Amino acid sequence: MAEVKYIFVTGGVTSSLGKGTLSASLAKLLQARGYSVTIQKLDPYINVDPGTLNPYEHGECFVTVDGAETDLDLGHYERFLNVPTSQANNVTTGRIYQTVIEKERRGDYLGKTVQVIPHITDEIKRRIKIVGSGKNFDIVITEIGGTVGDIESLPYIESVRQLRWEMGQQNCLVIHLTLVPYLSSTGESKTKPTQHSVKELLENGIQPDILVLRTVKTLHEDVKRKVALFCNVEEDAVVESVDVSTIYEVPLYMLEEKLDQTVLRKLNLAQRDEPELTDWKRFLTRLKNPKHIISVALVGKYVELADAYKSISEAFIHAGSYNECKVNVAFIHSEKLNDENAADLFKDIDGILVAPGFGNRGIEGKISAVKYARLNNIPFLGICLGMQCAVIEFARNVLELEGAHSTEFDDKTKYPVIDLMEEQKSITDKGGTMRLGAYKCILNSDSTTYKAYGREEIEERHRHRFEFNDRFLEDYIKGGMIPAGINPDSKLVEIIEIPEHKWFVGVQFHPEYSSTVLNPHPLFVSFIKACIDK
Ligand code: GLN
Repeated sequence: MAEVKYIFVTGGVTSSLGKGTLSASLAKLLQARGYSVTIQKLDPYINVDPGTLNPYEHGECFVTVDGAETDLDLGHYERFLNVPTSQANNVTTGRIYQTVIEKERRGDYLGKTVQVIPHITDEIKRRIKIVGSGKNFDIVITEIGGTVGDIESLPYIESVRQLRWEMGQQNCLVIHLTLVPYLSSTGESKTKPTQHSVKELLENGIQPDILVLRTVKTLHEDVKRKVALFCNVEEDAVVESVDVSTIYEVPLYMLEEKLDQTVLRKLNLAQRDEPELTDWKRFLTRLKNPKHIISVALVGKYVELADAYKSISEAFIHAGSYNECKVNVAFIHSEKLNDENAADLFKDIDGILVAPGFGNRGIEGKISAVKYARLNNIPFLGICLGMQCAVIEFARNVLELEGAHSTEFDDKTKYPVIDLMEEQKSITDKGGTMRLGAYKCILNSDSTTYKAYGREEIEERHRHRFEFNDRFLEDYIKGGMIPAGINPDSKLVEIIEIPEHKWFVGVQFHPEYSSTVLNPHPLFVSFIKACIDK
C-alpha cells in the first residue's frame, strides 16, 4: 500500500471560520475522485472528551458508532463523506495528557523528565498516525481546533511542524484558513490579518502550502496575488471561500477553485477522473427547489444556540431535500411552553419534535408539547429524552398514573415509568459512562417505524442512562402505546408508538447522528412525509 498522505487544516484570524466544513468539503472532493479519505479533529481543551460539556459551550456532542462522545465537527465529516468515524477521529488535549500521565505513573518513561516536547508532541503525533494506519486510507485530513496563536494549540502546531519535517512536504500538507474582512466604507478587502496570521504560523516553523480565504465578497485577483506574494504561497494555492447559502455548496465551490487539484498536485498524487458528484448535485437541486414547505417545532431547552441541535437540524435538511420539501425549524424553548400556551405556540406547526436533553429544566414544557401533539394528531417524533417525555405524558394523562415521572427528575415518584438501568446504579463518574454507541433493535413489523426503515433489524446510536421501565409495559400496551422496537439482547424497549395516532414515534436512540446527505435517515424522511400529508 502506498504511504498515507496527511493534510492539516489550521485556522487563523478568528474562530468559527468553518475549518470543519472546509475539511469535509475537501475530503468529499478527494473521495469523489476515488481516494479513500478520513478526517480527524484535534481539540485543544482539557476535557477528556466533550461528553461532560454543556451544549452551550461547544454545541451538540456527537456520538460515533463505537460509542465515543465527540466534537460536532465529526457529524459534518460523516454527513459529507457517508462513512462512519470512530473514537480515534477526535482527540483532545485532556486525552493526550491523560495517556502521557498514565504512562508516567506506570514508569514507562524510565525516570526521564516528562515534557511537552517530546512527550506530549510524540503522543499527539502517535494519535495522528493511528488514524491512517491499517485502515487503507489514502489521505488523512486533520483539523486543528482553535486559532493559530492560542497558547493551548501550540503543542499541536509543533507536532505538525515535526511531522512535516519527518515526512516531507509532498506527504504532509498544511492548509491555513483565514478571514479577509471587507470594509464597506472604503469598499476594500483587507489582507493584513491574513498576513499576520501566516507570520504567526511561520514563527512556529510552518510555512502553509495553501491559503483559503473566507470572505463575504468575491475577491479581486489582485487581492489573491498580494496574499500569495506576502505569504509566500503559489498564486493558485490561494483559494477564496465566499459565504454560500448552505454548507453543502462548499464542495462545489472548492471544486471551482480547484482546491482538490492543487492538493493532489502538491501531494504528488494522480488527479484521476473529475469528481463524481451526481448524487450530491441532485441533493442540492432538490434542496433549492422544494415543492412543499412545512414548519416543524423543535422543543428543547438549549434553543438559544442552534448548534446544540446540529445533527437534528441537518437531518431535517437531508430528509427535506429527499421529500422535495423545505423544512422550517421553529425552535421552541421548553421552559416557555405549557398546557395553556401550547395551542398558540404550535398554531402554524405541522409536526413536533421533542429533543434530547439532561436534567430537570424545561421538562414540564416538553411534556406539554407531547400532550399537544398526541391530542391534536400532530406528527410527533421524540428523541431520547423526548421519547421519555412521551412515556411520562402517556402514563399521567392516559393511564392515569398520577405523578408518573422519570427517576432522573423525581426519584421518589410512585410510578417510575422511566428508570435508571441496573448497571448504571453504581456508577459515579459522569464522563463516558452512559449507554453509548450503536445497539441492535428489532422492529415490530406492524409499526410505523418498520414501514419507515423497510427492514426488521436496525442498529442505532445511544447516549443515555435512563430507560423505559418494563414493569409498566402491559399497562402501556393495554392503554394504546406499543413497544415498536426491542433490543434483542437486553430486551429493553427502544421505540414506542401510538398506533391510533397519525404518526407518533418515540425513540430511545439518536437517529439524527446517522443521517447523511446521501442517506437521509428513514425516520426523518417518514416524519416529514407525515407532516406534508397533514
Ligand atoms: N437524560 C436522559 C437519560 O440520560 C436522556 C438523555 C438524552 O436525551 N440523550 O436517559
